[in-house]
Amino acid sequence: MTKSIELKSETELKKMRTAGKATAKILESLKSFIKPGITTEDIDKEVFKQISSFNMKPAFLGYGGFPASACVSVNDELVHGIPNDSCELSSGDIVTVDIGTIYDGYYSDSAFTYPVGAISESAEKLLKVTEDSLYKAIEQVKPGNRLGDVSYAVQSYVEPFGYSIVRDYCGHGLGRNLHEEPSVPNFGKPGTGPRLLPGMVIAIEPMVNIGKYYVRVLPNEWTVVTRDGSLCAHFEHTVAVTKDGYEILTQL
Ligand code: MG
Ligand code: MG
Repeated sequence: MTKSIELKSETELKKMRTAGKATAKILESLKSFIKPGITTEDIDKEVFKQISSFNMKPAFLGYGGFPASACVSVNDELVHGIPNDSCELSSGDIVTVDIGTIYDGYYSDSAFTYPVGAISESAEKLLKVTEDSLYKAIEQVKPGNRLGDVSYAVQSYVEPFGYSIVRDYCGHGLGRNLHEEPSVPNFGKPGTGPRLLPGMVIAIEPMVNIGKYYVRVLPNEWTVVTRDGSLCAHFEHTVAVTKDGYEILTQL
């Protein structure tokens, strides 16, 4: 059975926009907060404090038993990193912070990979290509296009750089739930998949490895790392399909 993709009303979109703006402000503020010497737990505490100051709830805290407000993933950690007070960031690291907020029952979800201090040229290129691929994908969001067009935009942009697209994790619909239909893979064929309609809301989230695409989950049952230990990056926005294109809900 194919589950249907929910279309959000203007009232629902308004709530998701409010949630998304808060998420965007928090991720923006972390650009100056993240520096060598802070721990991944410091980031989580800051995220929790800011989400609370918006009178919102952290979407990830307790989700499936996740123990923190932010997923904080360092270097070869791709997603679902658990913040830790012994994990201190050093210059040259890259760190992904993935957060979500809930406002009046509606979710937002966004992620950004930050440089810590001065990073290598290869890391810098990885971040740029991955972030650019997110916007290439977003450009494909319009009524009439299909989900495969969005997926293909990421893959066709990223792979010529010699990077690989993670297969085991992908984007998703969201609304009153953090994860709804449809799945939004970062690879696929143009002209395939469900047609995009105004009112659909999807989280698009390219996950890109410098090395091979294989990943594994650490014994803590959360943290996902690249199997070959290569660096990886992850950028995500919550995006609504509008009458004539798209609206990025997790943008300032
Ligand atoms: Mg996320
Ligand atoms: Mg997501």
